[in-house]
Amino acid sequence: MNIAIYDIRQDEQAIFKCLEEKLKLKFHYIKGHLTAESLHRASGCDGISVLGHSHIAEDLLVSMKEIGITKLATRTVGYNHIDLAAAAKHGVQVCNSKYGPHGVADFTVMLILMALRKYKQALFRANVNDYSLQGLQGREMKDMVIGIVGTGNIGAQVIRNLSGFGCRILAVDAFKNQSIAKHAEYVELSDLYRQADIVSLHIPLLPETRQMINRESLAQMKPGVILVNCSRGELMNVSDVIDAVESEQIGALALDVFEGEEGIYHFDRRTDIIQNRDMAYLRQFPNVTMTQHIAFYTNSAVEDMVSISVNALVDLHQRGSSQNEVHA
Ligand code: NAD
Repeated sequence: MNIAIYDIRQDEQAIFKCLEEKLKLKFHYIKGHLTAESLHRASGCDGISVLGHSHIAEDLLVSMKEIGITKLATRTVGYNHIDLAAAAKHGVQVCNSKYGPHGVADFTVMLILMALRKYKQALFRANVNDYSLQGLQGREMKDMVIGIVGTGNIGAQVIRNLSGFGCRILAVDAFKNQSIAKHAEYVELSDLYRQADIVSLHIPLLPETRQMINRESLAQMKPGVILVNCSRGELMNVSDVIDAVESEQIGALALDVFEGEEGIYHFDRRTDIIQNRDMAYLRQFPNVTMTQHIAFYTNSAVEDMVSISVNALVDLHQRGSSQNEVHA
């Protein structure tokens, strides 16, 4: 099977090489994104593999079909960069990827600890030989009530990770995850907001969860609450969050994701004018830690992202299936 690989990152190369030998495939590495201009370079291949930076709209899917390519894999979990309805309409089969929850869950606990121990400020100070203690007093995990919103793969793993710290853990989800029952207590969202010293979001971005962190929900939380978001930036109304940091209703904020991060995070923008005022303004607060959507980024996750998506393409090719579906 011949597969055209677009968007390849340096850290994926060794994994592709290994898979090529193991599965007896032939990979054709094509620089840059899959676009109308670069599609011809995949000509003769049986399938295409992309990352999330390739935006696959209907016209591109039609062109793929015209050159005989009907199998497309994204090496990401999300597939919102692909027009699935158009893929179904034109008979292009699409598969996505999957990886374990540990990377994001570990990262979440790191952000919680950084916020609780004011580590951003401690790090900045030490870098300029300021070793003063003033303003750096932290709190201990054993004294915290931690609220986990969403107990799917990642939220449940965060709870397992936290279970050794001696904190009280509250959880919210429509589906009760029995695997964490001995570590966490399910409550109503309003009770979680009222009781938690730390609120961590692990729910998907859906119409009903968009901007769920807003003026009203923040007002229900404890004054000085620590808010952690390793899920999606759009879960928060950024303007309301900024107001809450300024009024100190939020005591510390840790974000791995941000509304409008596309085109900024994962790129070197050192000499560019960045068009996201809220991102720049929030970053300057001493109690706000922002990372560039890297919670997922571990060797294990990247290996899974590449190998699961390639295996899904191979599976589709071997089955010669005519169904259009998203394979996770
Ligand atoms: P999942 O589907 O396993 O779990 C999501 C859980 O949220 C489910 O149990 C669901 O019932 C629950 N949920 C949905 N709506 C809810 C609501 N309104 N209130 C309470 N619970 C609700 O997903 P996951 O793998 O745990 O991932 C969670 C999110 O993490 C993803 O949707 C994604 O946005 C984000 N994520 C971020 C990174 C990163 O690098 N920062 C990486 C992977 C995933």
